[in-house]
Amino acid sequence: MDPITCGYCGSRVGVTASDLPLSFRQDPAAGPRKPQFVIVGSGLLLHQCVIPGDDGVMVDPLTYSKAVHQAQGMVATQAGCSMSHALALMMNTADTTDTSMDEVAEEIRAHRVTYDAPS
Ligand SMILES: [Zn+2]
Repeated sequence: MDPITCGYCGSRVGVTASDLPLSFRQDPAAGPRKPQFVIVGSGLLLHQCVIPGDDGVMVDPLTYSKAVHQAQGMVATQAGCSMSHALALMMNTADTTDTSMDEVAEEIRAHRVTYDAPS
Protein backbone atom coordinates (compact mmCIF):
# COMPACT_ATOMS: atom_id res chain seq x y z
CA MET A 1 0.00 0.00 0.00
CA ASP A 2 1.10 3.56 -0.58
CA PRO A 3 1.91 5.62 2.48
CA ILE A 4 -0.78 8.11 3.45
CA THR A 5 -0.07 11.77 4.05
CA CYS A 6 -1.29 13.34 7.26
CA GLY A 7 -3.66 16.19 6.43
CA TYR A 8 -2.50 18.15 9.46
CA CYS A 9 1.28 17.94 9.54
CA GLY A 10 2.06 16.57 6.09
CA SER A 11 3.97 13.55 7.47
CA ARG A 12 3.98 10.41 5.37
CA VAL A 13 2.59 7.49 7.32
CA GLY A 14 3.52 4.02 6.13
CA VAL A 15 0.57 1.65 6.04
CA THR A 16 0.51 -2.05 5.34
CA ALA A 17 -2.40 -4.37 4.75
CA SER A 18 -2.01 -5.72 8.29
CA ASP A 19 -2.73 -2.21 9.63
CA LEU A 20 -6.28 -2.26 8.26
CA PRO A 21 -8.81 -1.19 9.28
CA LEU A 22 -7.39 2.24 9.93
CA SER A 23 -8.89 4.31 12.66
CA PHE A 24 -8.69 8.09 12.88
CA ARG A 25 -9.22 10.03 16.07
CA GLN A 26 -9.12 13.61 17.19
CA ASP A 27 -8.41 14.03 20.88
CA PRO A 28 -9.59 17.40 22.17
CA ALA A 29 -7.31 19.75 24.03
CA ALA A 30 -7.00 18.75 27.68
CA GLY A 31 -5.29 21.19 30.03
CA PRO A 32 -1.92 22.17 28.54
CA ARG A 33 -2.18 19.49 25.85
CA LYS A 34 -3.17 20.73 22.44
CA PRO A 35 -5.69 18.82 20.33
CA GLN A 36 -4.11 15.72 18.82
CA PHE A 37 -4.73 13.89 15.58
CA VAL A 38 -4.16 10.16 15.92
CA ILE A 39 -4.03 7.42 13.30
CA VAL A 40 -4.35 3.88 14.62
CA GLY A 41 -4.01 0.73 12.54
CA SER A 42 -5.06 -2.61 14.00
CA GLY A 43 -4.86 -1.15 17.49
CA LEU A 44 -1.31 0.17 17.03
CA LEU A 45 -0.47 3.85 17.03
CA LEU A 46 0.78 4.74 13.55
CA HIS A 47 0.85 8.51 13.81
CA GLN A 48 0.11 11.27 16.27
CA CYS A 49 0.51 14.99 15.85
CA VAL A 50 -0.78 18.26 17.21
CA ILE A 51 -3.70 19.78 15.36
CA PRO A 52 -2.75 23.35 14.48
CA GLY A 53 -5.23 26.07 15.36
CA ASP A 54 -8.79 25.14 16.18
CA ASP A 55 -10.83 22.73 14.17
CA GLY A 56 -13.65 25.11 13.43
CA VAL A 57 -14.27 23.95 9.90
CA MET A 58 -16.96 25.80 8.04
CA VAL A 59 -18.63 23.71 5.41
CA ASP A 60 -21.88 23.85 3.56
CA PRO A 61 -23.70 20.65 4.49
CA LEU A 62 -25.68 20.80 1.25
CA THR A 63 -22.48 20.27 -0.72
CA TYR A 64 -22.41 16.59 0.15
CA SER A 65 -24.37 13.58 -0.97
CA LYS A 66 -26.82 11.55 1.05
CA ALA A 67 -24.17 8.82 1.47
CA VAL A 68 -21.82 11.36 3.05
CA HIS A 69 -24.53 12.49 5.46
CA GLN A 70 -25.28 8.92 6.46
CA ALA A 71 -21.59 8.24 7.07
CA GLN A 72 -21.37 11.52 8.99
CA GLY A 73 -24.02 10.26 11.40
CA MET A 74 -22.06 7.02 11.88
CA VAL A 75 -18.87 8.96 12.55
CA ALA A 76 -20.60 11.22 15.07
CA THR A 77 -21.82 8.11 16.89
CA GLN A 78 -18.48 6.28 16.74
CA ALA A 79 -16.41 9.26 17.80
CA GLY A 80 -18.99 10.67 20.18
CA CYS A 81 -18.74 14.08 18.58
CA SER A 82 -20.94 16.67 16.92
CA MET A 83 -22.06 16.34 13.32
CA SER A 84 -19.87 19.26 12.24
CA HIS A 85 -16.89 17.69 13.99
CA ALA A 86 -17.71 14.39 12.25
CA LEU A 87 -17.64 16.14 8.91
CA ALA A 88 -14.30 17.71 9.79
CA LEU A 89 -12.93 14.25 10.63
CA MET A 90 -14.15 12.91 7.31
CA MET A 91 -12.67 15.85 5.41
CA ASN A 92 -9.35 15.24 7.12
CA THR A 93 -9.55 11.57 6.18
CA ALA A 94 -10.29 12.50 2.57
CA ASP A 95 -7.28 14.87 2.59
CA THR A 96 -5.04 12.35 4.33
CA THR A 97 -5.88 9.46 2.06
CA ASP A 98 -6.29 11.60 -1.07
CA THR A 99 -9.79 10.38 -1.75
CA SER A 100 -13.13 12.08 -2.26
CA MET A 101 -15.71 12.56 0.47
CA ASP A 102 -17.95 10.06 -1.30
CA GLU A 103 -15.18 7.47 -1.24
CA VAL A 104 -14.55 8.14 2.45
CA ALA A 105 -18.29 7.78 3.09
CA GLU A 106 -18.28 4.45 1.27
CA GLU A 107 -15.35 3.20 3.39
CA ILE A 108 -17.16 4.25 6.56
CA ARG A 109 -20.44 2.68 5.51
CA ALA A 110 -18.55 -0.56 4.67
CA HIS A 111 -16.86 -0.41 8.12
CA ARG A 112 -13.42 -0.31 6.50
CA VAL A 113 -12.71 2.99 8.26
CA THR A 114 -13.80 3.64 11.81
CA TYR A 115 -13.40 6.52 14.23
CA ASP A 116 -12.75 6.15 17.92
CA ALA A 117 -14.06 8.29 20.70
CA PRO A 118 -11.35 10.48 22.27
CA SER A 119 -9.61 8.79 25.16
ZN1 LIG B 1 0.23 14.50 11.40
